[in-house]
Order: sequence, then C-alpha cells, then structure tokens
Amino acid sequence: MTSHAALRIAPIRASVSDAEWQARLDLAACYRLCEGYGMSDMIYTHITARVPDSPAHFLINPNGMLFGEITASSLLKVSVDGDVLYKPDLPYGLHPAGFTIHSAIYRARPDAMAAMHTHTVAGMAVSSLKCGLLPLTQTATRFYGRIAYHEFRGPERDPSERDALAKTIGPLNTCILRNHGMLTLGESVPEAFTAMWGLERACQAQLQAMACNTELNMPSDEVVAKSCAMYDPPNSRRYGLLEWPGLLRKLDLADSSWRD
Ligand SMILES: [Zn+2]
Repeated sequence: MTSHAALRIAPIRASVSDAEWQARLDLAACYRLCEGYGMSDMIYTHITARVPDSPAHFLINPNGMLFGEITASSLLKVSVDGDVLYKPDLPYGLHPAGFTIHSAIYRARPDAMAAMHTHTVAGMAVSSLKCGLLPLTQTATRFYGRIAYHEFRGPERDPSERDALAKTIGPLNTCILRNHGMLTLGESVPEAFTAMWGLERACQAQLQAMACNTELNMPSDEVVAKSCAMYDPPNSRRYGLLEWPGLLRKLDLADSSWRD
C-alpha cells in the first residue's frame, strides 16, 4: 500500500547563514498564514524572500508542495538568473511563472526583500473590473493611488515579461495583475504579507458592496486624500512588524512544523 505520510525533508539549519535561516523562517510562516487565511490557490501561486546576505538570490516554494506543507528547509534557493542553488530532495522544482514574476522584482527593485502573489477569488474579481480597486473603504485608501495595474498578456513564462512587469510596478509596492491576481512587495516578509492581507480585505469589501444593488457611498476626494496620507510616512508605522510575532504565536499554537 502506498504511504501518504508527511514529506520528509532534511533540515538545513546548520548549512545556511543566520540571515538566510531567518528569511526561511519568515517565508515558511508566510506560506502557512497564506494557507490558513484562505489566500492560497493550491500550488499555483508563489511567495518569495530575498536572501539578505546574498541579494542576488531568493527563496521560493518547490512547485508541488501545498502551502500548508512548506517548511523553512523546503524552500528552494535560486539566483535572479534562474540557477537553482539549493533544492530539497523532492521531485519538485522551480515554477517558471513564479521565477519570471519574482526575478523581475528582485532585479529591478533593490529595496524589495519579499514579494507575495495570490489568485484569491476576490483578487481575481477586482483584477477583472475596469474600475480596479475603488477607495470605498478606509482599508482601500491604504492602497489607493499606489497600485500598479499590469495588463494580462498570458501566463508569465516569456523572459520579456520581466522587463514589462518591472516597468509597470516602478517604485510601487502593490500591483494588480489584470484578469489574473495580486502582487505585493515589502522591505520584509511581514510587510508584504500584511499588505496582501489589507488588499485582500479591501477587494472583498468592494465586491460585497458592489453586489448589493444599491448606490455606493463614495468618500469625497478630500477625505480619500486625507485618509491616503495617513498611510504615508511619517504618519504611518511600518506594517507587519507589530503583527508578525502574534501571527507566529498563532501558527505555533496549531503546528510548529513550519520551523523545520
Ligand atoms: Zn499567478
């Protein structure tokens, strides 16, 4: 009888730097949180983190592991040119579209340390609306005017797509991939995750409000501008830093195997 036990992956803590290990822990936690909060799409999206002490390299999921299975030692280490420097002993490799999207970011944006891509139903739906994300809720104003919209040109496997995506994103940290999904960048994994959390909820709220068949109460331009400014430094703290330890405690209470 075939065994379906959990995947066994050799621990690699002893063979990587402290900085890389910390990035692996944060990224593995982010995969588990993405799954736990209903933002995964089975194996079809990707979240990455740059290796802090080796900036031409980043960490990404093995293509085939569910997000709820990801551990710190399971993450691939790849170069921005596509070389796989480490992969666990599993029949899973590098996802071509994942590599295209994330290598585009790390090549073009030295400040980006993490990137998260989702295909949630709410994200795909808003990505398919001509109006995009409206400043309809306080949460949405965090992103309003700060979202890049990238036109859909088919799955991102063509290397030329890297330059096009980098050009679209420019200096922004939020991108709606038209007819596809969402993308957030951050100076840390917690920042990219909490941005996606807010973006996801803003999309859900907009869709539910638009589905109610009654007139929307759109805030005035003045109020939107004031609310947007609240999310600018120095008015705003860095999102993610306050939230992250609690999120890790939540994960550990349920299952701490992401730390392996
Ligand atoms: Zn995608």
